[in-house]
Amino acid sequence: MRLLHGRPLAEQLAARSRERSIALRGRDIQPALAAISVGIDPAANTYLQRLVRAGKALGITIRDVSLDRDATEQAVIAELDRASRDRLLHGVLLLTPLPGKLDEGHLVDHIAPHKDVEGVNPYNVGLLLDGRPRFVPSTAEAIVELLKFHAIRLAGVEVVVVGRSTVVGRPAAALLLNEDATVTIAHKRTTDVGALTRRATVVVVAVGRARFLTGEMISPGATVIDAGINMTPAGIAGDADVDSVALVAAALSPVPGGVGTVTTALLLRNVLTAAEAQTAGG
Ligand code: NAP
Repeated sequence: MRLLHGRPLAEQLAARSRERSIALRGRDIQPALAAISVGIDPAANTYLQRLVRAGKALGITIRDVSLDRDATEQAVIAELDRASRDRLLHGVLLLTPLPGKLDEGHLVDHIAPHKDVEGVNPYNVGLLLDGRPRFVPSTAEAIVELLKFHAIRLAGVEVVVVGRSTVVGRPAAALLLNEDATVTIAHKRTTDVGALTRRATVVVVAVGRARFLTGEMISPGATVIDAGINMTPAGIAGDADVDSVALVAAALSPVPGGVGTVTTALLLRNVLTAAEAQTAGG
């Protein structure tokens, strides 16, 4: 079985981003992203640290805006509005998960669409569904970029996406549809997930349950993209049961080392795209 590693793609993306960042800074434009967090969530914090490191390597400023975990919805909205207006910031990211009392769906409306580098504002969601994506959630984009990088055919191919979250499953399905795949989305209310995944040539699994997808649930020669990141007593595990999947699949993206390796590189690429668009002709 072939492993679909993310590292070579991440390195390729970083090399190109470094050139674009140098070109911007040569025009006295310092590309910058506001990363807004509410309270201290360990997963969001780890992600932020990774982002700061990756940003530094590419000459992109990450402005860490941390709000108290008791911050009101109005306070978060005020921060999102402020960052959306700030001409020195080209991207605005709201780190998740948020404290339970905050309505994420309402907050993302306050990220200006042209600075919404994680593609969560309904305007960008609409562009994606309209088949002309601008900014797309980076994990979903990583799934499709990884498939394309490893030359996995998508046009006319049956793909099943397990999971329908707004940041992974849904946008991944929309992107795959844009690649002319025949896409089915499975979720908790799907009566027989295995019956669907066994029919698919490509299976994307993003459910947040360690070893959810087993070898019996896929067809021989299938390609499996595992977006899962689960903390288990044995360490980080994906949503695929590697031991049984490896006996049946032709290709599998590893966890760690697959989808997750590519996401920050894509988010930072979007910051550069936003910075270029906002300063064009300036
Ligand atoms: P989420 O918001 O919890 O969504 C999980 C989805 O899986 C839901 O749509 C849910 O269905 C579905 N699901 C759960 N159990 C299922 C079952 N037994 N059968 C069928 N569908 C089931 O999670 P998420 O944010 O999409 O994340 C998914 C995974 O990706 C997690 O492991 C997360 O850690 C990982 N992730 C990775 C990255 C990265 O950079 N690689 C980024 C974000 C997330 P319902 O909609 O019906 O509830």
